[in-house]
Amino acid sequence: MNVLKFGGTSVGTVESLKNVRSIVEALPSDTVVVVSALGGLTDKLISTARLAADGGDWKSEAEAIATRHHIIIEELVREEKKIATLDVVDSLLDELKRTYEGVSLLGVVPAKTLDVIVSLGERMSAPIVAGIIKNGKLHNSLDFIKTEKWFEKNIADAVLTHDLIVKEFAHTNDGPHITGGFISQDRDSGEITNLGRGGSDYTAALIAAALDADMLDIWTDVDGFMTADPRIIKDARVLPTMSFIESMELCTFGAKVIYPPTIYPVFHKNIPIRILNTFNPSAPGTLISDSSDANEYPVKGVTAIRNTCLVRLSGNLTENVAQINTRAYNALARNGVSVFLLAQPGENQEFSFAISVADRPTATRVLNEEFAPELIDGALSKISFEENLSTIAVVGEGLKHLKGLNGRIFNTLLRSGIKTQACSEGNSDTTSSFVVEEKDTVEAIKAIHGLFF
Ligand code: ADP
Ligand code: ASP
Ligand code: MG
Repeated sequence: MNVLKFGGTSVGTVESLKNVRSIVEALPSDTVVVVSALGGLTDKLISTARLAADGGDWKSEAEAIATRHHIIIEELVREEKKIATLDVVDSLLDELKRTYEGVSLLGVVPAKTLDVIVSLGERMSAPIVAGIIKNGKLHNSLDFIKTEKWFEKNIADAVLTHDLIVKEFAHTNDGPHITGGFISQDRDSGEITNLGRGGSDYTAALIAAALDADMLDIWTDVDGFMTADPRIIKDARVLPTMSFIESMELCTFGAKVIYPPTIYPVFHKNIPIRILNTFNPSAPGTLISDSSDANEYPVKGVTAIRNTCLVRLSGNLTENVAQINTRAYNALARNGVSVFLLAQPGENQEFSFAISVADRPTATRVLNEEFAPELIDGALSKISFEENLSTIAVVGEGLKHLKGLNGRIFNTLLRSGIKTQACSEGNSDTTSSFVVEEKDTVEAIKAIHGLFF
């Protein structure tokens, strides 16, 4: 059986939902379908919450949200399911209005309230899609996608979730089966949580892995995984195949096609992923599996992570590079901060690495604690942070065979007038990454994409 995931781009309009319907209705009855909220709705739910907190006119926004759902139900939900679907969606719309009302009285949006507000997107889209598809059976993902607390984040409780998915989908021959992505429930408190923005992909992967699916199909609005973000590079190419590792690296370094945590559960079970276009269903798409055609396409793509913060440790540290990096890396990881680039050490024993700007406050605290002895005895003179940067990554399993790669990248950037602030040390076999000023992001991607494609 296959698990399919349709993103917001695919469930945004009456027209796109007709495509979803014809794709799903042509598949066997054991198919499981994961859907996102209607396109752009999650952003709208969040901005309306902020509007309510700021005393703005949230009521007309809430009205527009209601109308959008009503139109789709009216136009597409099957006659026999219309009344029941409308009942469900209307009671969720009531919950949304009551919650906004509360936010407007409070004048702030507490994090847990925002989690409830954003959950309503998928809690409404799933019953609607189930009502559109012939014989569609609705499953409530809050019953089986469970999270636990990890520092300030909610992460999937993989074991519990696996067992609950197996139970939930024990009999699947009477489908197709429809469920909402992204949303989850805290296993201890029962509160509504989510898997992070873009998390519907991850829901689908958890289901595919637990059910030992044959394939995970991610349906979106482009013809496949491309050599760069098509919004930046107009002539970016669709890649016919890529390896799990390559897709993992590209997504970790900012390619928006798949939410990064998605790949691990299916990779672990060797379940291939296809990236397919809801608006062009006959296009072959991209097949992501355990093999890479590294000979034909040594480089698979160029991506960027904006909001990079470069952390610098400077002083007269006596430990070697590996020891310092390991200490910093582990201390940050223990506190939920991921380091996506360890830079080659500069002159004067300066160590730098890249984190996300959002993690800067935690990193400041953690590094000051970890290196307190060195800060006191003077071996470390300062820990500094630089912002307004982007990390650019070039990814491909064939990179390791390309001679003088970093030099070529440096020179290409230099010719475009872009200065490289830091460069990854001892590249992984598949990724070479470097930091540039944020204002140069688009130019850097264009220059490097031009070099390889
Ligand atoms: P969905 O709503 O289907 O989850 P997303 O917006 O999350 O869609 O992801 C699809 C978008 O990712 C595409 O519309 C495209 O603009 C963007 N994108 C960024 N990088 C790439 C890439 N390398 N290949 C294809 N699409 C990319
Ligand atoms: N609706 C959620 C979001 O916009 C989840 C998703 O689309 O994958 O982030
Ligand atoms: Mg997405």
